[in-house]
Amino acid sequence: METKTTADQAFVRELNLSLILRRIHNESPISRAHLAARTGLNKSTVSSLVEELMRLELVHEIGQNSIGAGRPATLLEINPQAGCIIGVELGVDFVAAVLTDFMGNILWRSTAGTDPAEAQENILRQTIQLVDEAIAAARQMSLPLLGLGLATPGTVDLNEGMLIFAPNLHWVNVPFRKRFAEHTGLKVFVENDANAATIAEHLFGVARQCSDFVLVFAGVGIGGGFFLNGELYRGKNGFAGEIGHSPIMAGPFETPCHCGNRGCWETYANQYSIIQRVQARLAVKRSSLIPRLMAEQNSPPTIPLIKQAADAGDAEAISSFAEAGTAFGQGLATIVNFLNPEKIIFGGPLSIAAQYMLPAAQEAISKHCLPEIGQKVNMELSHFGADASLIGAIAIVADNILSYPTHMERR
Ligand SMILES: [Zn+2]
Repeated sequence: METKTTADQAFVRELNLSLILRRIHNESPISRAHLAARTGLNKSTVSSLVEELMRLELVHEIGQNSIGAGRPATLLEINPQAGCIIGVELGVDFVAAVLTDFMGNILWRSTAGTDPAEAQENILRQTIQLVDEAIAAARQMSLPLLGLGLATPGTVDLNEGMLIFAPNLHWVNVPFRKRFAEHTGLKVFVENDANAATIAEHLFGVARQCSDFVLVFAGVGIGGGFFLNGELYRGKNGFAGEIGHSPIMAGPFETPCHCGNRGCWETYANQYSIIQRVQARLAVKRSSLIPRLMAEQNSPPTIPLIKQAADAGDAEAISSFAEAGTAFGQGLATIVNFLNPEKIIFGGPLSIAAQYMLPAAQEAISKHCLPEIGQKVNMELSHFGADASLIGAIAIVADNILSYPTHMERR
């Protein structure tokens, strides 16, 4: 019986440490008295928990609050130097790695282009090389490592740290955690890219104080992360948020999707749909700046190139983005009607064209949502733009430490 009591006490202690650590993360700078008021724990418990978090070097004191009449209170905040984190984003045609401090501030980064036709093993080797460079950067700065996070498109088995299926990569059953943990000796966390980006917005971005929001991540596909009632909603198997494959546009003009199905929402609003719209316009020889930019840059029509044309006032580029924006908004309207979120956060590579897509998307939301729901939703840009998943890879490691502070490892 005694063992059980001790185990229970340790469990409660860990929960309370996490509670205090998350409060400090979310509301810093904050005093011990304020923490007690916010959590309902008594002041001596709070002091003892804070002491332990300071001993773990996760939290530090940052001087005193002299505002108000009472005795000045010492304020606490997260210690950004608690250690650093490596984040890896696996994209469809690139891999990126980043090294940040514990608060997600970037210390080093690197990206490498990959050929989607390349063998999986070669792309994995390229990724491991980037990770080695990140570790070298941390060692050079004499910073301890807290872990490695990997954000990948597709469905992920969180317990195994394994990619189950990524339609846009054509990858199946990839044991990322095993592979990266064996190579680095670090704690490794793997998460779906959109879910990771959602956690990043909550920990470091535009949704720090927001308990109900949806992150929509658009690029090659459209992924979503649902943050509901103060936590990421994963669904029974961790696969929630695959909004891009909803048959929102099913009908006579169904477009084939990488997942093998037809009529998926993302095929009407992803980056490829915009490139197709541009190509269709150029095929009927409308006058446009795009062919000249393509020749100058010796490049196919990419999203950054089309954006450049739009910035110069090119009507074909602008209306291609706007058309995709309408399709984007039609899908969003469904989500808004379902969930009544406070915010929709737009991130991913396509978000560079937000100024051309969002007005049309907003219009579609207003048109298709019940008025009292549609009018209340704010659309905001991700704090991290195209880096949303990369910083997401950092956030999943930080989030684990916020949940289980005493299980933290410094390597
Ligand atoms: Zn699909």
